[in-house]
Amino acid sequence: MTTTTITGISELVTCDDSTPDRLGVRTDTALVVDVGANTILWLGDADHVPATDNRVDLGGRALTPGFVDTHSHLVFAGDRSAEFAARMTGAAYDGGGIASTVAATRAASDDDLRALIAGRMAEMRDQGTTTVEIKSGYGLSVDDEVRALRLAAEVTPETTFLGAHVVPPEYRDRRGDYVDLVTGEMLAAVTPYARWVDVFCEPASPYAFDGEESRAVLEAGRDTGLGLRVHGNQLGHGPGVQLAVAMEAASVDHCTYLSGADVDALADAADVTVATLLPGVEFSTRSPYPDAARLLRAGVSIALATDCNPGTCYSSSMPFMIALAVREMGLTPAEALYAATRGAAKALRRTDIGRIVVGGRADLAVIDAPSYLHLPYRPGVPLVRALDL
Ligand SMILES: [Zn+2]
Repeated sequence: MTTTTITGISELVTCDDSTPDRLGVRTDTALVVDVGANTILWLGDADHVPATDNRVDLGGRALTPGFVDTHSHLVFAGDRSAEFAARMTGAAYDGGGIASTVAATRAASDDDLRALIAGRMAEMRDQGTTTVEIKSGYGLSVDDEVRALRLAAEVTPETTFLGAHVVPPEYRDRRGDYVDLVTGEMLAAVTPYARWVDVFCEPASPYAFDGEESRAVLEAGRDTGLGLRVHGNQLGHGPGVQLAVAMEAASVDHCTYLSGADVDALADAADVTVATLLPGVEFSTRSPYPDAARLLRAGVSIALATDCNPGTCYSSSMPFMIALAVREMGLTPAEALYAATRGAAKALRRTDIGRIVVGGRADLAVIDAPSYLHLPYRPGVPLVRALDL
């Protein structure tokens, strides 16, 4: 066992949610980490640190749990920057551009995709993210979905089968056949590589799935032992949130358009289902932001994630999401940081990440500033990175 002491921490954000702001900020505190096991062994008074093999002095920088990005679509090839430019000059988003990414992704080799995923993962780590969920959904055939999840599983345990991302063009006139494929042969083939199943439940999009189709996808996934996640209520009011709550999904993501009944349902389900907000999507599609402060007041559990994808938000930056959540969605800096760490861990049903606790993983992010407040205070500045020990 190799042990390392971390000292010089100006502010340690533990995300101990028994504290008033749920961040559990400590000063004059040091950590001891088992580097090989990536586990926190000790946390206490910086003046009484036990003897260890190595010492890292952060020189007065803040330390937080690494960010937990619970929603990404990193397995893709191709380029859709022109679509973004068109949208910024007035074109609407309806989910149709996904087909162009599907074509480019199917055409790419395994090694091409591996290199693209690795590049995006490195970009995330350089911005403080230590856990990444990755979805399939740009394959949309049995072989291509299996490949996407096999490649994702090489880099993260948090893999999500999103065969029900859109109905691929070749099934446009026979949607039922595609749902049968997703819930049958495709599901059986991907299950060894997936922890979760997800569905783009969005009747407002002609390419996505309605409530009934979505329920079928989730039920089939649940029957094979996968956990449930839902893309819901992104483009308009719809059944996604209610379906996610009724089926005890771990997370329903987007939640841009919510009725009072949706908010009430999410509040009642706060111990089970997290509302994951993706403000980079609203930013990149120039859409109204969800009212995160209203959700917190109602008692809803929330998380923040990037939704890093080539169509609606090609940003890998959790610090940017924190800044948007504070500036545009009414969260305090403390609420936004919690939602990007411990709140997000809950959306993956994990207790070993998203907080700094003895026995938990030593997934840490160091901020080149004295306080975590600098994350939203200095948007766009590369202040935070995952700490390599
Ligand atoms: Zn998504």
